[in-house]
Amino acid sequence: MEPLRSYLAGRWQRPEGPGTPLHDAATGQEVARISTAGLDPAAALTHGRETAGPELRELTFHQRAALLKALASHLREHRQELYALSARTGATKGDSKFDVDGGIGVLFSYSSKGRRELPDDTVHVDGGTEPLGKQGTFLGQHVATPLRGVAVQINAFNFPVWGPLEKLAPAFVAGMPTLIKPAPQTAYLTHRLVELIVESGILPQGSVQLLCGDPGDLLDHLTEQDTLSFTGSAATARRLRSHDNVVRSCVRFNAEADSLNCSILGPDATPDSEEFELFVRQLVTETTVKAGQKCTAVRRAFVPAELADEVTEAVRRRLAGIRVGNPASPEVDMGALADLEQREEVRRSLKSLLESCRLVHGDPNTPFELVDADYEQGAFVPPMLLRCDDPELPQPHEVEAFGPVTTVMPYRDAEHAVELARRGSGSLVGSVVSADPEFVRTVVTGAASQHGRMLVLNRHDSAESTGHGSPLPQLVHGGPGRAGGGEEMAGIRGVLHHMQRTAVQADPDTLTALTRQWMPGSARNTTAVHPFRKYLEQLRVGDSVVGGPRTITREDVRRFAEFTGDEFYAHTDERAAAENPFFEGLVAHGYLVVSFAAGLFVSPEPGPVLANYGLENLRFLTPTYPGDEITVTLTAKRITPRHNADYGEVRWDADVTNQDGESVAKYDVLTLVAKEHQEEG
Ligand code: NDP
Repeated sequence: MEPLRSYLAGRWQRPEGPGTPLHDAATGQEVARISTAGLDPAAALTHGRETAGPELRELTFHQRAALLKALASHLREHRQELYALSARTGATKGDSKFDVDGGIGVLFSYSSKGRRELPDDTVHVDGGTEPLGKQGTFLGQHVATPLRGVAVQINAFNFPVWGPLEKLAPAFVAGMPTLIKPAPQTAYLTHRLVELIVESGILPQGSVQLLCGDPGDLLDHLTEQDTLSFTGSAATARRLRSHDNVVRSCVRFNAEADSLNCSILGPDATPDSEEFELFVRQLVTETTVKAGQKCTAVRRAFVPAELADEVTEAVRRRLAGIRVGNPASPEVDMGALADLEQREEVRRSLKSLLESCRLVHGDPNTPFELVDADYEQGAFVPPMLLRCDDPELPQPHEVEAFGPVTTVMPYRDAEHAVELARRGSGSLVGSVVSADPEFVRTVVTGAASQHGRMLVLNRHDSAESTGHGSPLPQLVHGGPGRAGGGEEMAGIRGVLHHMQRTAVQADPDTLTALTRQWMPGSARNTTAVHPFRKYLEQLRVGDSVVGGPRTITREDVRRFAEFTGDEFYAHTDERAAAENPFFEGLVAHGYLVVSFAAGLFVSPEPGPVLANYGLENLRFLTPTYPGDEITVTLTAKRITPRHNADYGEVRWDADVTNQDGESVAKYDVLTLVAKEHQEEG
């Protein structure tokens, strides 16, 4: 069998020599071989930086996001093929869906977020404008631009599809090409994934490269413009983090390592409560999905001392019903570990755990009943349940058996539960299974600083809960300390990890030109044509209209109060209003000001403006009294065409001032504006 090819510098390259065999997790048969002998990882980095990087940076966030969606759809069509190969890694159909569908889901999610939350531009405007001078001629604005390197990812064996895709998606949206180095055990599945990506031709050449096998001197060639994202053991994370060149070049490094995640059953649970059932069910799921080879799996199950026996027995009974065997068989609930070495690793870890725990269920050292599989050939272990009655002992908080292993431990009260949760020294995720809000608050506030994510599970959210073990693209995946100290995904935050944030200090006009977003104090363009009469293509940032003045009368305020029913005393009772510390008598409603302002700036006849879909950042700054004159200035602030739609979004800056030139209200008006010409294709 030839070793797997790597996809480097624009072509598939076969390594020299025979390579190291990789085995089917369930049958032990050789599936593939792996090697990087004779390959040149440094050339791949150069290719990424010089070929793909510039091309990707030419595209806007929206264009990149659209490509990601096309890729997700393409991969979805090839799911069956990926599932079949995934079975050879020991994964059941359910496990494979978790990996394959989960990964494709991340692409869809980043595509959608990229289009909704980032501009159709190449520069991201990060946060608000900071006025740096009294005259308003000197502003500060943070902007983010893509790093000009390669996003190198070193992955673990347990998620050969999700792992590469969850790292690729944010890097790609940011505008950085990716180099994937899969873990050897399951590299043949990642290899097929990359073949599908390359064959599709959807992404620009060099956006995704693949290095199957030992990375050689790859890390020696990283620069300050590259990123390095790692998933795997804490020991390897330490080695990579302290690698000479990674340290010297300040390479942006992110690690996600295994952690001793916990699940805590609240004291409000009773053996017949929904929370008891949810806790037990979740623990069994977390122990058996991917044969427990999940960095988010529950390793430590804390239960009220008086419920410890009942929980242990309920979990034991369910684990006893789990059918282990050939992952391709529909009768099987749990497949195999990644390889025989991992089985040895689990046995070793179990041995250390048994120094402080007793085994309640499952012995990996003796043959047990398997469905359509051979105990000697495949990396099978049974689900294992441990009980530790003295949770002060160190092993359950320090030793992770990376397999279907979990330990039930008793706790005394909420503070004790927090203390035990924190003993994991940093975890990816913790669950609190309780319907008692006070207990949940104590645990979450007490343990959050040791966790990247916390799930509260109870009768109110269980129907929709996405589960303890599922990292979501919208939310942080990562955790402090033992969990690696990193953060992945978390929506657009993950994109920004691949960009440099730069504080730009300049005058308003220059900042407007740089960001293509109108900045306060920069020039306005008040032409004869009302901006509401302009189609999206004709509209320019800075196009403005001034409406007013209009005098607000006491009668206006009375009628507005009567019409809307908002008869709050400050608008209707002169004497009471005068006693209010903020007003000097009867004031106009803030909503009256906003409504009248709309009446002043609109151009009412049918035209390109299709709808107003919201207001943002509304602030009432100065009270408006009867007799005041208001004027509104509306300025096109940001123009965002929507791809595959015949309209786009326009954000307008609205500033309502009084006769003294004071701002009485400021806000953004959000509208949908038609394109004059339909997009082709
Ligand atoms: P490793 O940390 O050894 O390997 C993870 C990845 O790092 C692999 O791609 C590996 O590839 C690569 N790697 C290892 N050393 C180097 C190096 N010096 N330079 C560059 N890349 C390197 O984890 P394992 O896969 O061996 O699993 C061991 C344990 O890690 C498990 O038992 C489990 O406890 C934990 N683990 C945690 C995971 C998580 O999601 N956080 C996932 C999987 C495992 P190569 O082997 O080619 O060097």
